[in-house]
Amino acid sequence: MSRRPISVSIDRLRGKRPDAGTARRLPGDERSCPRCQSHFRADEIDRNCYVCAVCDYHFPMTARQRLDHLADDGTWQEIAGELRASDPLRFVDLQPYTERVRSAEAKGATEAITSASLAIQGQPCVVAAMDFGFLGGSMGSVVGERFARAAEEAVAQGVPLISITASGGARMQEGVLALMQMAKTIVALDELGDAGLPFVMVLAHPTTGGVWASFASLGDVTYAEPGALIAFSGPRVIEQTTREKLPADFGMAERQLEHGHVDAVVDRRELPARLGRLLAIFARPAHDEAQSLASQLAQNGSERAARVAQALPGLSRRLRGRPGAEDLNPHPADDA
Ligand SMILES: [Zn+2]
Repeated sequence: MSRRPISVSIDRLRGKRPDAGTARRLPGDERSCPRCQSHFRADEIDRNCYVCAVCDYHFPMTARQRLDHLADDGTWQEIAGELRASDPLRFVDLQPYTERVRSAEAKGATEAITSASLAIQGQPCVVAAMDFGFLGGSMGSVVGERFARAAEEAVAQGVPLISITASGGARMQEGVLALMQMAKTIVALDELGDAGLPFVMVLAHPTTGGVWASFASLGDVTYAEPGALIAFSGPRVIEQTTREKLPADFGMAERQLEHGHVDAVVDRRELPARLGRLLAIFARPAHDEAQSLASQLAQNGSERAARVAQALPGLSRRLRGRPGAEDLNPHPADDA
C-alpha cells in the first residue's frame, strides 16, 4: 500500500483560514481582541475570564484555564489524565498523525479534553472540559474514553456531570474509531441518567460535528457562551454544498436560543455563579421527598381553606354592608 499523503482540505493547502474556530492569529497576538482590537495584559485578561473588557468578545480558553476558573480555590483532581492517543491507522495526511499529536502536546495539553472532579461554589461535581487548541478539539478515542470515565466517576461519587465543549467534531485521523466515541459517550450518559444524576452542557465556540451530534446535544440543562457557533456543519461547508447564502447569524448561540436548542446564553464571567446555583437546586431533596413535602403542604392548605370557608357567610354579610360591595356578589338572587 502506498504512503501517499492524503489531501484533507484544499483550502488548507492554499493557506486559507480553517473553517471552525477563531481567526488565525500571529504568535503573541492571542491577547488582542479580534473584534475591537483592544489589547490586554495577561493578568488583565485572566482576571476577566478571557473576555474582552471592551466588547465582551469571548477569547478561546484551554481546558485547564476553564477548570482553574470554575473550581473553588482553583483546585481540581484530574480523571484519567494518563490516557494518550495511539495511532491505530498509522494515518498520514500533510504530516503523520503522531507528529500532529506531539506538536499539540508541546502547547501544554495532553488531549482535547480534560476531566476532573472539583467543587463549584461549594457544590461537588465532575467537569469534562474540551480544548479547541488541541487538534481542533477533535474527538478521538482518548476524548471519548476520558468523557466516559468522567461520567463513571460522577456516578461513583453520586454528583452531577458538567461538560464544556469546543470541538470541530470527530478526529478523522482515527477514522471509524473516532466515530465510535459518539456511541460510547451517549452510553456513558445513559448510565448517568439511570443513576438519577443530571448532565449540564456548556457549549463554547465552536461546538460542531460529531461532538454536537452526540453528547453535546444531550444536556438536561444546556447553556451556551455568547457568539458560539453551534452546528453540525460549519456555514462555509453548507454554503459550498447547497450553493445558497446563509444568514450571518447561522448556528450562533443566540439564534439557537431563539429556536429552543439551548436554555440560556450565559456570559462566561457569570458561569461559576450560574452553575453553582443550578447544582444547588439539583442537590435539594430527592423528587419523592419533595412530593411528600408538597402533599403535606397541600393538606395543611386545604384544612386552612375549609376553616376559611366555614367563616365566610359572616364575612360576606359584613362586606355586603359596605358601599360598592354589591360587585363582590355576582349572584344576588342566590343570596335571598
Ligand atoms: Zn473586544
